[in-house]
Formats: sequence, C-alpha cells, structure tokens
Amino acid sequence: MAFPVFTNMWFTLDRVRCYNSRRYQHVTNRFHVDEGDEVERYFNKEVQEASILDPADGFQEKVIEIEVRSDLFTGSKARVLTHRWRIPKDLPDSSTFSPSEKKCPFCSENREISTPKFPDSMVPGGRIRQGRATVVPNAFPYSRYNAVVILSEDHFLPLDKFTPDILYEGFQAALSYINQIRQFDDKVAYASINWNYMPPAGGGIIHPHFQIVVDKHPTRFHQRLVAESLEYHMTQEKNYWADLLSFEEKKKERFILRSGHIVFLATYCPQGMLGEVLALFEKVRTLDEVGKEGWKCFSEGLCSILSSFHQMHFDSLNMTLLANIDNSGHFWTQARLIPRMSIPPLGISDVNYFEKGHDEVITVISPEELAENIRALL
Ligand SMILES: [Zn+2]
Repeated sequence: MAFPVFTNMWFTLDRVRCYNSRRYQHVTNRFHVDEGDEVERYFNKEVQEASILDPADGFQEKVIEIEVRSDLFTGSKARVLTHRWRIPKDLPDSSTFSPSEKKCPFCSENREISTPKFPDSMVPGGRIRQGRATVVPNAFPYSRYNAVVILSEDHFLPLDKFTPDILYEGFQAALSYINQIRQFDDKVAYASINWNYMPPAGGGIIHPHFQIVVDKHPTRFHQRLVAESLEYHMTQEKNYWADLLSFEEKKKERFILRSGHIVFLATYCPQGMLGEVLALFEKVRTLDEVGKEGWKCFSEGLCSILSSFHQMHFDSLNMTLLANIDNSGHFWTQARLIPRMSIPPLGISDVNYFEKGHDEVITVISPEELAENIRALL
C-alpha cells in the first residue's frame, strides 16, 4: 500500500492550505460524452511480471508486477514500480541551507553588487523589478536570452510558504522580461519559464528563482508538442488538448483541480520518479492570451499543488512552463511540475540508467494515486 505513513500522520485538514475561491472546482460535469476518446489511443500499457526467489521469505517465489506505460503523443515512456514506493520520512533540514546564505548573490544585501545587468539596449536600467521579484541575466546562460527571476526576499522558502502573490509577481516579472526581449528581437517566437527548486532538482542556489528562456526556436520537447498538436488537428480535425481535457475530466482518475481556466492533472505517463502534474491553460494558444486573470488562477492553483507536495514530503521539483509567442498552431500554453528527490541515506539520484541511457522513466507512484493523494490535500 502506498502512503501508509502519509495517511496516518499527515492527512490533517488543519495543515492543508484552504482555498475558498469560487475558481476552485473539483471534477466537474463539464465534459461532453464521447469527446476526447481519441486521446486514449495514444495511451498504452503493458504489465510485465518478474519472478524472484525471495531471501526475505525463505526463498519462496515472489512475483513482482511492472507496468510499462507509453504516451505516443508526448513520446514519453515510464515504468510504474509501485512496489518500490516509500514516502520520504523526513523533510530536508532547512538549517543546512543557512551557510549558503552568506554568499548568496540573490539575497537583497548582495543583489545590487553580485548579480549581472542586462545591456541598456536590451533592458533599460539593466534589471527589472516587479513587487518582490527582480529579473537579472543568468550569469551562466543556456541560451541567447536567458534570465533569472529572483522571487523573494527570503533566502529559503519551504514549498508551503509560497503564496499566490509571490508566484504571481514572479510571473509578471518574467512577462516583463519576455516583452522587453520581443521589442529587442522580433524573431523570438517561443518562451519558457522554468524552475529548479532545491539541489535534487538541479537548483544550484537555494534562494527561490525561476529561469526564463526566450528563443526563435522551440526546445526539443516543446517542438514535439507543437508538431504533434498540428498532426492531431490534421488527422482528427480537432484540438488534442481540448480532447485530453475532456477525456481526463470524464475519466476523473488523474484530474486534480480546476483554477479558472487552468486545469491541473497527473499525466498518464509521467516524466519523474514521483510522477508529474500538468497544468493546462484551456484554449490559451499564446503567452499574450494568458492575461492577468490567467496568471492569478495559475498562481493560486500552483500554490495549492506546492503545498500538497510539501505535505507529501516532496520538497524539490522542476517546473517548465511552455508558451508560444506567435500562434504557431494548435498548441495550448502549459506547465509541467515534476517532484524530485534524492533517496536517503546515501542521497541517491532519482535519475538512473533507464532515464539517462534508455529515455524511459522509473516511477514509484502511479499517476492515479498521485492525483488522488493531492486531491485529498487540497
Ligand atoms: Zn539568498
């Protein structure tokens, strides 16, 4: 059984962030019968059985099930090994983060002198400030236009201490940067807002920060989703994301929450050991179409997901929000949240040869169970 510890120790409603907003609706009756069923053809599952003679049980035969899932749309493949699931027993000790604070370039006392500035021709004044958020160039850029959004005055924020306002200001600051780049270079067509939260997810600086990438070309995965969206439209004469939303709202198993026109669900074939949450911006084809209300709804929904991750002791994650600047097809703006962890006691990576060398992900919690547990914490 998954989540035995969780059920006994952590499912206490008074610890759950409470949202009374009318934007929140759990599974609704909005679906239309038969819509979205084409999506299911993209989902494949095969259950394999492995037999061992178990030394823990007098070398009796033990049969272990391995569920191999693939999503032909995203190209993802995952092996669901729920027998390996153990909820992390402890949260990371935040006191271990304090030594990094002394030399943190993102802390307010160092920010002015330790972070780079943009050339004035690109961003007048060199930096962008929006509420608590500050945008500076990435000192170690991955792309021609790669910036960092410093989110908070606090050097360390546990996931349950992020507020919708902190996230909203961060997204607005990211948008300001993207719009400045659009003025500077009218060839850019794709943008992403990314997050490595904490070292297990690749975060090299504890201080909370997003990374923005703006480019004239999409990244490989973004390109695949755009191309598949067009292909689906050409063959089905419908929109894949509308069908996916309809299918998941009808199916209910992986549906998590709706915040305005942003829908959060667990993906059928996750890209992380602890699963994956997809936030789908309904009918939003470009960055400009998100609008202030959309960013508010996304920030509120995201905050709920972060809080639920914290309560499940998932305290590291990657986030990637993909958006088209031009309306280049039938793609909808979307974000993916992938919890990350290092496995105690040796701090083992949650990425192994299957993911690095075979491009298949080992997952220890089924997507349906992940969704169910997050729903219980909202
Ligand atoms: Zn700091």
